[in-house]
Amino acid sequence: MSANDAFHIAVLGGDGIGPEVMAPALEVLRKVETKAGLKFRFTDAPAGANHYRETGKSMPESTVRLCEEADAILLGACGLPSVRYPDNTEIMPQVELRFHFDLYAGVRPARLIPGVPSPIVGADQRGIDMVVIRESTEGLFASMGKGVVTDSEARETLVITRKTSERLFEFSFRLAERRKARGRPGALTCVDKANVFKAFAFFREMFDDAAKRHPDVKTDRLYVDACSALLVKRPWDFDVMVMENMFGDILSDMTAGLIGGMGMAPSADIGDRYAVFQPCHGTAPDIMGQGKANPTAMILSTAMMLDWLADKHGLEGAAEAGERIERAVDKVYADGIKPIEFGGRNGTADIAKAVLEAL
Ligand code: ATP
Repeated sequence: MSANDAFHIAVLGGDGIGPEVMAPALEVLRKVETKAGLKFRFTDAPAGANHYRETGKSMPESTVRLCEEADAILLGACGLPSVRYPDNTEIMPQVELRFHFDLYAGVRPARLIPGVPSPIVGADQRGIDMVVIRESTEGLFASMGKGVVTDSEARETLVITRKTSERLFEFSFRLAERRKARGRPGALTCVDKANVFKAFAFFREMFDDAAKRHPDVKTDRLYVDACSALLVKRPWDFDVMVMENMFGDILSDMTAGLIGGMGMAPSADIGDRYAVFQPCHGTAPDIMGQGKANPTAMILSTAMMLDWLADKHGLEGAAEAGERIERAVDKVYADGIKPIEFGGRNGTADIAKAVLEAL
């Protein structure tokens, strides 16, 4: 791939506020492409609860094919509480994509942007800048759709494999090293429950082995309960954390809460070959169609996409474009924009306009 080729991006807007936050994110990419010497070709594809309602499928085969052919996948948000499978679970093509493309590393940065209020006293002075890496293809989610429920009991099985864990830890150490190169501590914490469950002792053992191969990275190990307490007491002490799927599902929503809310938290689901970029938030049916959604998380997810494309294809221009998007977002918050999400007056259009102007 050279800078002259267009990057083909599969665009899955999804349901609820998904398409509402996707539109400004695409405008942002259009805005940076020329300056960065990049080109994008966007192809829209259906997925989600509305598509299921119309067709009985969470996404058509053509969407999966498109994602296979594209250079990267952007996803808004999918699923609506009112639309469910016969077993009462929600429509979640985003989770299906993780399994289909083996996207084992769910990367969820939580950076407190100056000007954004945090519920943690002192966070505005000390700063929060951490990343939760959530294993995204196994753990308790390996049981998805396979749980057994009888009249008297319910069972779900957690799975941790060596193959996935070893790749997950390599990815995590590499991310810590890259952050160190960019001036962060570059420390990595393994979060588990190794004091109670054999599966987590196995997880930690593999983490310890990986740590031996990366002596330059400072490591720590914490039980998930203790980690949760520390995260709200001293979030500034954390850099990169790696954990099982369900723990990551929960803790990454908490870390999003520490940095202002779901509308501020971007994410990427990354595998060896494919990657999906989407905000941490869901479809927010309570605010959909009202212009209230904060598009920041989706916009920051496009910056993560650019960083990933830069790393994969050795294109410095793409990494710089990602940094420009982050700086533009920072400027907008420093200048005082206040999303409705945390008590302000600024809706989707205001925030999108401000970021585009800052660029
Ligand atoms: P999921 O299970 O798919 O993550 P959810 O219903 O648990 O979805 P969200 O859809 O993320 O959670 O919504 C949780 C709350 O956060 C809602 O009150 C919603 O309005 C709010 N919220 C989520 N995303 C945004 C956003 N981008 N802007 C403003 N508010 C948001």
